[in-house]
Amino acid sequence: MPAGGRPTQSCSNTSPLHGANAVSGLPEGDTQQPSSGQTRESSKGSPGKEIERGRNSPGQSRSLPRTRDVWRKSDAGRGPRPPSQNGKPPPRTEKQRTVFKGEVPEDASVAIIGGGLSGLICAQVLSDQGVRSTVFDTGKRGLGGRLATRHISTPGGQSLVFDHAAQYFTVSDPIVQKMVDQWEAEGLVRVWDGSVGNLKRGQFTPLPGEQPKYLGVDGMMGLADRLGEKVRQGLAQTRRPCWVSRMEPSGGKWRLSENGRHEGDFDFVVIAHNGKCANRLLAPAGVPEVAAQMKSLRLSSIWALLAAFDKPLPLPPEIDAAFVQDVPSVSWACNNNRKLKRSGPECWTLFSTAGYGKDNKVPQEAVPAPVAAKVTREMLDGFEDAWGVSRGTFPAPIFTKTQLWGAALPTNTPGVPCIFDPLGRVGICGDWLLGSSMQDAVLSGRAMALQIAEFCQRRGAGTESLASGLTKRLRPVAGHDIGSFPVTEAELLTVT
Ligand SMILES: Cc1cc2nc3c(=O)[nH]c(=O)nc-3n(C[C@H](O)[C@H](O)[C@H](O)COP(=O)(O)OP(=O)(O)OC[C@H]3O[C@@H](n4cnc5c(N)ncnc54)[C@H](O)[C@@H]3O)c2cc1C
Repeated sequence: MPAGGRPTQSCSNTSPLHGANAVSGLPEGDTQQPSSGQTRESSKGSPGKEIERGRNSPGQSRSLPRTRDVWRKSDAGRGPRPPSQNGKPPPRTEKQRTVFKGEVPEDASVAIIGGGLSGLICAQVLSDQGVRSTVFDTGKRGLGGRLATRHISTPGGQSLVFDHAAQYFTVSDPIVQKMVDQWEAEGLVRVWDGSVGNLKRGQFTPLPGEQPKYLGVDGMMGLADRLGEKVRQGLAQTRRPCWVSRMEPSGGKWRLSENGRHEGDFDFVVIAHNGKCANRLLAPAGVPEVAAQMKSLRLSSIWALLAAFDKPLPLPPEIDAAFVQDVPSVSWACNNNRKLKRSGPECWTLFSTAGYGKDNKVPQEAVPAPVAAKVTREMLDGFEDAWGVSRGTFPAPIFTKTQLWGAALPTNTPGVPCIFDPLGRVGICGDWLLGSSMQDAVLSGRAMALQIAEFCQRRGAGTESLASGLTKRLRPVAGHDIGSFPVTEAELLTVT
């Protein structure tokens, strides 16, 4: 996801994803025998060395030509052989496959690209399993991705706080519940006992809500910060702001870099983000099934409006937040002061519907000022419509800020906890593997870690059977515009 919402380097700034590629020589005539949707590791070659393959697709066995560079004999007739670049081979293409041979070392290391909730949980569980990892994240202000909180000081010295993506979470899975109980005991999260419901033109109906609603104690980003601290106390490092722009096989490992700057060599890569950035990283990496799954993902766009009012709005005081019905420009409204138990100017987070996000989509890194003004106006109008009051009832806000979540929430999912290619040693985790909620992100990060830990434990034997989710078709996700939570069927509204 570009950026998980923090100001981050944009994919549009991506340096060309090509250049020098370490393409190891494959003995002439080496044959790869594929099995169960995966090509099998060759018995030839030195341990720990990656081999590049030609156009063999899963289920096909073929003899490969010599691959001193990536141009293949079979390309003859399709145009001239591409020129080498400074003596280096030309760019890899999507059709090549990266396969690592040999055992991973005992102190295997994992690069986790994305420090959102799924990436942090992946690092935590890997650490618990004795596996080292480094979490890379673009966030300039902190880790967390869509666990994002904005702290703003007004010129008048007032302090404003807004959760501006994930609002709260619920838990239905017993494993996640155990983790969350631990977080609660350690003071990372607390139960939100405020009233949340559905709001239709002034009619508020509380959610049935037998399930506790959880919050980061100082906002959602505080939860991410604390999880970051926890992983650093174990076997993980975190590195930010770092925008991994390239991954390539080199010397039997994955070599990561940010705009040409070497960021380390790793035995496994976990892609813990999605969207265009992830597609660009994966496309040339030689893991076609993993790349294809990522490319099938569809994401909604949501506008966020942060608005602060000098005085409490004339609204029923017992209501903290609502899923808004029947208003195109607003799908959620939350009073952060009530939620985070703060005083001062009343800070509201409003989210648009996905339909409104789509109709008003612009490049999220450079929102034109007239668009921001129009969205602000329409969302403030929609906010009044939601409460069934006439326009102009609410005072003008003392502060507003719009943000477009251009890749906000998945609208389809493979419904598998993680995707893993054991030959290319690349996996994917994230909310979208299971749905579109924080619980889904936790479950996915955990599953990814356990898959890699199992690979390390097997010491090379039978690791191919750890392939996961490589061909599972994606299906639509049900849920609210802002995610598939709360997670009980009774509370779930199907809007997709
Ligand atoms: C508006 C909105 C409201 C929501 N409300 C709720 C809610 O109330 N309850 C709920 O359960 N869920 C909610 N969600 C969903 C929830 O936020 C997500 O399910 C969850 O945070 C996803 O975590 P993740 O780790 O999968 O991805 P992300 O949080 O997106 O993390 C990915 C991270 O990877 C980083 N990254 C991207 N590319 C690179 C790169 N090349 N190099 C390094 N780092 C990179 C990004 O900056 C980001 O930090 C909401 C989402 C949105 C957008």
